[in-house]
Amino acid sequence: MEKGRRVTTLDDALKALDETPYFIVNGATDVFVKHRTWAELPLKMPKTPLFIHDIASLKTIKETEDKLHIGATVTYDAMLKHPAVPELLKACLNLFASPGIRNTATLAGNIANASPAADGVLVLYALEATISVKSLNQTKEVPIQSWIKGPGETALKPNELITAITIPKRKSTHTWFKKVGGRRSDAISKVSFAGDALIEDGHIKRLSLALGAVYKTVVRLSNIEQKLINQKIDHIKTVWPELETLLKNAIAPIDDQRSTKAYRQQVALRMVQTFLKACLT
Ligand SMILES: Cc1cc2nc3c(=O)[nH]c(=O)nc-3n(C[C@H](O)[C@H](O)[C@H](O)COP(=O)(O)OP(=O)(O)OC[C@H]3O[C@@H](n4cnc5c(N)ncnc54)[C@H](O)[C@@H]3O)c2cc1C
Repeated sequence: MEKGRRVTTLDDALKALDETPYFIVNGATDVFVKHRTWAELPLKMPKTPLFIHDIASLKTIKETEDKLHIGATVTYDAMLKHPAVPELLKACLNLFASPGIRNTATLAGNIANASPAADGVLVLYALEATISVKSLNQTKEVPIQSWIKGPGETALKPNELITAITIPKRKSTHTWFKKVGGRRSDAISKVSFAGDALIEDGHIKRLSLALGAVYKTVVRLSNIEQKLINQKIDHIKTVWPELETLLKNAIAPIDDQRSTKAYRQQVALRMVQTFLKACLT
């Protein structure tokens, strides 16, 4: 039986996936932890692995006038060094894992892994990213929010590959990434927040509020955003008394080994309040 296959071109990857339901391995930082066995024993992979991390054509960051396209095998380290990567994403990646992981892990892996606590996914929700998904005969552009269905669950078909992540280039006046974990970095988030806003002429022109680890997927607080977009910034104060209720309607945190429902609810509220207060100044 084939133990694994390494591809270096996108064509070869798509042909391979079309013929055989391989298990895609990119930076391997999720896969090799999830499928490890006892020390010195080989990994127990669910299917034959297809190693895609050396596909050079997907290891590029391309810019157009209004968009940034990040290839699926670009590492976090490369993103941190690129001048066009948005500050909000860099703020997240600076706290992401440790330098060793950042040297190999990818956004495509973070997205396909689809954890509700995934830090990269959280920022991509706030930045309204889309993902490019290809099979041998089809290319799709999908908003990240509609592609992730639940913990570990996405719309990816066995013959498909994420090839790029596209982030709209846009002006922001306020951005904030915050994660609360067992330690500042190299920790899975108990609760996390990404905010992105454009405040101009005293008005809230654009607002994204995203929370991680408080629902089965990352969530956008669209019920709060809709009350504030196109309003004068002072309108934030009028929403204050109902903020907690609006938040409770949008999230459903759970008790687990990392935190409690009550703690997550309280911290999520503080995060949203902190960002909205910053927008007032
Ligand atoms: C010590 C440690 C610390 C970590 N810290 C953090 C953290 O702070 N925040 C955080 O969010 N995560 C963290 N992680 C999790 C992990 O590093 C990230 O989720 C990372 O982004 C996964 O990327 P990868 O390229 O390594 O994915 P892989 O492990 O290669 O793959 C993950 C999943 O994505 C699929 N996949 C990968 N690429 C593609 C593609 N192009 N198309 C389709 N499917 C694909 C794979 O089949 C697999 O199901 C940590 C992991 C470790 C081991």
